[in-house]
Amino acid sequence: VALEETGLRLTGGKRWIVNATIADYAVVLARHRPGPHFTSFTQVLVPTCAPAVQAEPASTVLLAGSRVGHLRFSGVRLGRDHIIGRTGQGLAAFADQAATERMAGALWANALARRVLTGTYQHLTRRILGGRPLWDNDAVRQRFAGSLLEQQRLQALCRQPCPPGASRSRQLLGGMLVKAAAATSLEAILAGCAQLAGAEGFRDDGIQLLRAEAAMFGIAGGTTETMLAGLADHADDLLGAP
Ligand SMILES: Cc1cc2nc3c(=O)[nH]c(=O)nc-3n(C[C@H](O)[C@H](O)[C@H](O)COP(=O)(O)OP(=O)(O)OC[C@H]3O[C@@H](n4cnc5c(N)ncnc54)[C@H](O)[C@@H]3O)c2cc1C
Repeated sequence: VALEETGLRLTGGKRWIVNATIADYAVVLARHRPGPHFTSFTQVLVPTCAPAVQAEPASTVLLAGSRVGHLRFSGVRLGRDHIIGRTGQGLAAFADQAATERMAGALWANALARRVLTGTYQHLTRRILGGRPLWDNDAVRQRFAGSLLEQQRLQALCRQPCPPGASRSRQLLGGMLVKAAAATSLEAILAGCAQLAGAEGFRDDGIQLLRAEAAMFGIAGGTTETMLAGLADHADDLLGAP
């Protein structure tokens, strides 16, 4: 974003944005000066009806209804009243918002995991093979219990992602922790339950499609690898080293 005396000019774009094709406004985290320093970024509120804003739907058979798409800003001119907060405070504000979003995402992943496990449990108790419910098979129960353990771990972490009264930076770390945990646990849980669904998992509304869509928990809002890199950076905090 170029900050001018009477206004601003925004050039650039971002691909894969939820609600891109129906949103009235986009909150844009834009660089106002070169360099990686965290004060080099400013948030701008952009009306998507402004001239030089283009929204294009993403080409995907997944995530129906998410209106996911790509936004392009080709020299969008706006008044300085479209700057959110103070110039240079964009990344700090973004980090605060991201921590809340990551917590919400983890709660969503946990609810999804619980729903899938409940459905899988019902399926296993009703599906009869060799005259007995699948649920009576020890190997099946072990596989199911492994997924249940992952979900219970995620649930426990969601209840307390950081110690009570933790500092702001520790809360940000808690956000990274729950996001990485949600993505990896959900992936393992859905893989386990998809296998136990057998061929039924490939129906139009089956778990195999859900599994592909749920992979977004490890990508959208920051990849799992990025979260793990953040956790490694703060290993001392997490381990409680002096
Ligand atoms: C469904 C969906 C919705 C989205 N919604 C939004 C939205 O509303 N707003 C928004 O701003 N963005 C949104 N995004 C974009 C999302 O934030 C990016 O896709 C994400 O940050 C990853 O960037 P990328 O796709 O460019 O992957 P890349 O950066 O190209 O990474 C590709 C892969 O490379 C590997 N990798 C990357 N970096 C590292 C690293 N540091 N260490 C190790 N491995 C690494 C990982 O395996 C990673 O998955 C959405 C994406 C999806 C899929």
